Amino acid sequence: MRQTTKSETAFIKSKEVFPGGVNSPVRAFGSVGGTPLFIDHAKGAHIYDVDGNEYVDYVLSWGPMILGHAQEQVLKKVMETAQKGTSFGAPSPLETELATWVKKRVPSIETMRMVNSGTEATMSAIRLARGYTKREKFIKFNGCYHGHSDSFLVNAGSGVATFELEDSPGVPKELIKATLSLDYNDLEAVEEAFKRYPEEIAAVIIEPIAGNMGLIPAEPEFLKGISRLTKEYGALFIFDEVMTGFRCDYDSAQGLYDIDPDLTTLGKVVGGGLPAAVFGGKKKYMDHIAPVGAVYQAGTLSGNPLAMAAGIATLEQLTKKDYEEMNQKVMRLTSGIKESAEKHGLPIQVSARGTMWGFFFNESPVVDFKTSKNSDQHFFGHFHKEMLNQGVYLSPSQFETNFMSTAHSDEDIEKTIQAFNTTFDVLA
Ligand code: PLP
Repeated sequence: MRQTTKSETAFIKSKEVFPGGVNSPVRAFGSVGGTPLFIDHAKGAHIYDVDGNEYVDYVLSWGPMILGHAQEQVLKKVMETAQKGTSFGAPSPLETELATWVKKRVPSIETMRMVNSGTEATMSAIRLARGYTKREKFIKFNGCYHGHSDSFLVNAGSGVATFELEDSPGVPKELIKATLSLDYNDLEAVEEAFKRYPEEIAAVIIEPIAGNMGLIPAEPEFLKGISRLTKEYGALFIFDEVMTGFRCDYDSAQGLYDIDPDLTTLGKVVGGGLPAAVFGGKKKYMDHIAPVGAVYQAGTLSGNPLAMAAGIATLEQLTKKDYEEMNQKVMRLTSGIKESAEKHGLPIQVSARGTMWGFFFNESPVVDFKTSKNSDQHFFGHFHKEMLNQGVYLSPSQFETNFMSTAHSDEDIEKTIQAFNTTFDVLA
């Protein structure tokens, strides 16, 4: 049996200093129960807890570690950069170098600003859309998560969904009223909202491949329809690619879907495992950001040299072939999982987009937050625990996604399929 004594002791101590013992809610294993893994170190596709257990890691720090953990070139560049100083609060060429990579890979971004987290990126993008359009309402979608700034905490996914939290305590009512949260993949609802408030909606923000209510890709026609409606009604279309950017595909989600958004937010992979994120888009909008324009946004550590170095070292190594290979690994893994569940007579819906993959214990197709919530959370909790016993670390909530890295080997994939088989043997 897996030893967890040291993680348990660490959890008791951390609960004395952090609410719930953690610095981000989903880390507390709230919906799956048990003690969260306290991590000692990680290398490649493997993560090691303080009890010395080794796991194949598909959480990958919730997405960023696309090259695997402690990747040599990334470490080398970060360490070389650190020798020269860790923060200047003044411009440095590394920022422009990372921005050049961003522009190359995400051509809809003409100019951008570096920030420290996805939350800052989406918060600033909405402020810009509001400042530019001089409108206050915006549309988001139920089950999407755009970080934890006030306006987004309405029917949000991720930890808000995992812990079934009352929706928005602490958020002013005026802001809640200005957030129109609609069903994902429901174009008619978007059309109706624009008809109802033709001159009040500043933007539509979306996770083009939703990863915070489990993995639910948007229907192509849904995204095309929003693109058309935002143009028609003078609102901005914001692609929140904090999770999908540089991850789902070489060309990110906007390349996959052939959409040219007005603004885009990036995070996770762009910082290569250090805190960096981006919001950017068409220059005509970005020129409204201070100091060129009047929409204010700033940050003491924005464009931090270590984060820029990690981002550059990550992006400069990733090739189209890497994405193809990761995609194939995801295909092999997800078809193995499906086959195993079916063999055991377990209802499962498996979904995959590029290097992102997930599954729901559900008999019916999952297309939005409502159908995602119908999945068997109780079974998922038992399942997650047994997968840990089998040496596989999956996202500890059905409302999250799993990821693949270039570091996962064929043996890792085989081991994972075998772990699903054994777990289903135990639980079915
Ligand atoms: N947007 C999306 C799509 C995300 O998945 C997340 C975080 O998971 C965020 C925004 C917020 O990013 P951060 O946690 O870096 O603030």
